[in-house]
Amino acid sequence: EAALRQYPGQAIIDLAALRDNMRHLVEVVGGPKSGTAVMGVVKADAYGHGLVPAALAALAGGATWLGAAQSHEALALRKAGIGLDRCHILTWVYNGLAVPFDELIANDIDISLGSLAGIDALADAARQLGRPARVHIKVDTGFGRNGFTEQGFDTSLRKLVPLAKEGALHIVGLWSHLAVADAPDVPEFVDSTDRQIEHFHDFERRMRAAGIEPEIRHLANTAATLTRPEIHFELTRPGIGLYGYEADPAMGTPQDYALTPAMTLQAQLGTVKDVEDGHGISYGRTYITEGETSTAIVPLGYADGIHRSASGFDERGAKHAVKPGGPVRVMTAAGPELMHVSGRVCMDQFILDLHGSAAHLGIHEGDTVKLFGPGRGEEFAEPTADDWARAADTISYEIFTCLRNRIPRLYL
Ligand code: PLP
Repeated sequence: EAALRQYPGQAIIDLAALRDNMRHLVEVVGGPKSGTAVMGVVKADAYGHGLVPAALAALAGGATWLGAAQSHEALALRKAGIGLDRCHILTWVYNGLAVPFDELIANDIDISLGSLAGIDALADAARQLGRPARVHIKVDTGFGRNGFTEQGFDTSLRKLVPLAKEGALHIVGLWSHLAVADAPDVPEFVDSTDRQIEHFHDFERRMRAAGIEPEIRHLANTAATLTRPEIHFELTRPGIGLYGYEADPAMGTPQDYALTPAMTLQAQLGTVKDVEDGHGISYGRTYITEGETSTAIVPLGYADGIHRSASGFDERGAKHAVKPGGPVRVMTAAGPELMHVSGRVCMDQFILDLHGSAAHLGIHEGDTVKLFGPGRGEEFAEPTADDWARAADTISYEIFTCLRNRIPRLYL
């Protein structure tokens, strides 16, 4: 209730949906006894859904691994009481020369190793603690981001083997990341994923030739978990699927994959008023009302993480290409309707042209409106984060992760 009175907008997270999405992903890889485990990727505050609550829901749904990009996220999970008895945790984004290896090892956190920078510090930390650092060898199979490349891989392995023999390193696995698994219908992207998989197997052969048996191989993100069973290996790493979205709307809707979007973003309307024909709306006058109408303020703006690129421009707005703004579900006397961001998104608010009289439509200040939610059916007129992604020329991932702390997360 305080969140409703003090904050003009709220993100409501359905933890049961999150848990069920994970349950479904576990089924997709063949169930809990299939030999393929599932990692819930909870980096970036669980894609904006809240690190610890989302992690607990993922574990309740059958995840036995959690993935955190940055060290502090991985440590926060352990500090929240999620111990090794509940799951393994892998962390992968750090600067090899400045990372709390000792804390990571002491907290049973697996570490990605994609270069030899920092290897001495890592081995020293392990020696001092008297226990091996658990590492996953990251290889660059074509993403061009982290990981060892094929050149020099054998030489790097020759440096790692003695450290493993000595007990400073426990080489747990081999892993990589896919660039275009979210386009299963585009032949050139399918080819490119096939090539990444071939490279992955090549790295695996070289590892075996160096005398290292990768216990756990992992390559699949959500898209590949859903569409590429041949690379489920011992572990898959879905992120966006846990939150209820397919990776790219071109793949279909969340419902096509039996996923339920877990986050609903809502706000209570500010000023609702009548305006005359030809009234400029927001900065830059990129939207001009056509005929008498009413407008309503949605009290969320780009400082809350609402993308300014989701602004809406009309044909009368000076010098701007016509473009509908982000969609908002408004309840009218006749039922739910979609209205759109009219004019530019401001720092703390944006404006909806209601295309009619608020009095006739039955729209009032204080009414709760939905920016996005699970997207229940046509007649329910509920936009999804994919709709906002389209309006803002981005991806659902960015819609969630940009939501700031000014938007409290409420948990169902
Ligand atoms: N693995 C790695 C290394 C990632 O960086 C990510 C996120 O981008 C994921 C897995 C999860 O990807 P997705 O959210 O597309 O399932």
